[in-house]
Amino acid sequence: MGKPTGFLDFKRETSETVRPKVRIKNFNEFHVPLSREKQRLQGARCMACGVPFCQSGMMIGGMASGCPLQNLIPEWNDLVYTGSWEQAYHRLAKTNCFPEFTARVCPALCEAACTCNLNGEPVATKENEWAIIENAFEMGLVVPNPPKVRTGKKVAVVGSGPAGLAAAVQLNKRGHKVTVFERNDRIGGLLRYGIPNMKLDKSIIDRRIAIMEAEGIEFAANTNIGEDIKANALLKDYDRVILACGASNPRDINVPGRDSKGIYFAVDFLKATTKSLLDSNFADQNFVSAKGKKVMVIGGGDTGNDCVGTAIRLGAASVIQLEMMPKAPDTRTADNPWPEWPKICKTDYGQEEAIEVYGHDPRVYQTTVTEFAANKKGEVCQAKIVKLESKKDEKTGRMMMVPVEGTQETVNVDLVFIAAGFLGAQKYVTDAFKVELDGRTNVATQPEQYQTSVKHVFTAGDMHRGQSLVVWAIREGREAARAVDESLMGYTNL
Ligand SMILES: Cc1cc2nc3c(=O)[nH]c(=O)nc-3n(C[C@H](O)[C@H](O)[C@H](O)COP(=O)(O)OP(=O)(O)OC[C@H]3O[C@@H](n4cnc5c(N)ncnc54)[C@H](O)[C@@H]3O)c2cc1C
Ligand code: SF4
Repeated sequence: MGKPTGFLDFKRETSETVRPKVRIKNFNEFHVPLSREKQRLQGARCMACGVPFCQSGMMIGGMASGCPLQNLIPEWNDLVYTGSWEQAYHRLAKTNCFPEFTARVCPALCEAACTCNLNGEPVATKENEWAIIENAFEMGLVVPNPPKVRTGKKVAVVGSGPAGLAAAVQLNKRGHKVTVFERNDRIGGLLRYGIPNMKLDKSIIDRRIAIMEAEGIEFAANTNIGEDIKANALLKDYDRVILACGASNPRDINVPGRDSKGIYFAVDFLKATTKSLLDSNFADQNFVSAKGKKVMVIGGGDTGNDCVGTAIRLGAASVIQLEMMPKAPDTRTADNPWPEWPKICKTDYGQEEAIEVYGHDPRVYQTTVTEFAANKKGEVCQAKIVKLESKKDEKTGRMMMVPVEGTQETVNVDLVFIAAGFLGAQKYVTDAFKVELDGRTNVATQPEQYQTSVKHVFTAGDMHRGQSLVVWAIREGREAARAVDESLMGYTNL
């Protein structure tokens, strides 16, 4: 540990953000990192705990606590403090294939579990990670490192999200020939066409893909497995297949008027926006214009927040965001102690922007839609909403959110984005490979395993564990690669 009293001597300090009214004028990232010197002092705040909860990645109270990648956090916090940037990079790269993604988009389970968070401010681990990896790129340390020996084995990875990319990196490192198939025109999965550019600039993905290509990984974009290439053909051509297709079935809102024009699934809206930005800087007009529109976002989670931030940047006149559940408390409750993941109310960047632009928080809690109305052109123009309360279901004994009589209201809307979650793997792919599913329509495996019910077919990421996080997708991709390597070689050193 660099400085035993660091957490007492230095206050937590994180990057500045560009002010909401300024940053909404474009889709650029808006965090201004600390200087290297200031970041070093943040490294000094780490106590190198005997039991470092930050890197535990354990399930506590049904939720993950600490880093699922078991990043060697106390080690590299110390190396940040001593300014040993090169060593810090090598320690970080041992457990995380893509720190430049997690340093931008991870909710930082490590910080929530940090001992300093028990009665003070956690170590700024996420931004230490950012500094390490961006310094490493600047210093020219992140360079292609192709394997010296090839095994002659071929692996097909279906899906180029973080799970598929992590599996590809690991298997290529072992000398297997890896091809990543992606049905979209660009590589990256939801990193590319889900998470908006202001959270993860797409040049950051391109930079990594270029390194992977130089290491010998092949990418086949615009290739839909199950349609353009049949499952049997893939299994014939490759020794192993990893299905990492994500959980792309959006949950719908089945109410009267749902088929009106102007009602979109969140990811379709976000994808069109990013694609138009990347293709033509919006000149092609191939996106859903929110300019001057009254926008309703259904779903109070992170995807909903991304819709809020995107709609504001596209010039929405107003934005409301409906959330079925009550507002979470501002601080931990007694039954949600450290180091559990804190179930508290978080005001994310989109909501911050809405507060500054429209003067109020866009979130409306304990509320849902019961009906949409359309104008003569079939365009959505109104939504009927109702308040909800929590009641016990007499039959099952479970708590349910049910409508409160007499609270119906009608609001005017021009655009609606449904961000109500995802419902497992898409049927055409799972049918094509004939893999068994679990009760939640994710691809089934034994617990903590990645082999599916079909010989030589493995799975990883959201398609396996259900809608989750980038950090979990990277972990699953790395572990699936281990399983594939072991099945090919009889042992694994991954
Ligand atoms: C809007 C949004 C914002 C998010 N923000 C965050 C965030 O800030 N932080 C965070 O940690 N997590 C976030 N997540 C969750 C995170 O993006 C996912 O958990 C993660 O991307 C899952 O990775 P994956 O590799 O399993 O699947 P995906 O990223 O979904 O990638 C799967 C890929 O497979 C492709 N594919 C599917 N079927 C086929 C086929 N048959 N043939 C070829 N290709 C196919 C798909 O086109 C897709 O590109 C967000 C999710 C959404 C929707
Ligand atoms: S829990 Fe916090 S203080 Fe302890 S080792 Fe991890 S980052 Fe450092």
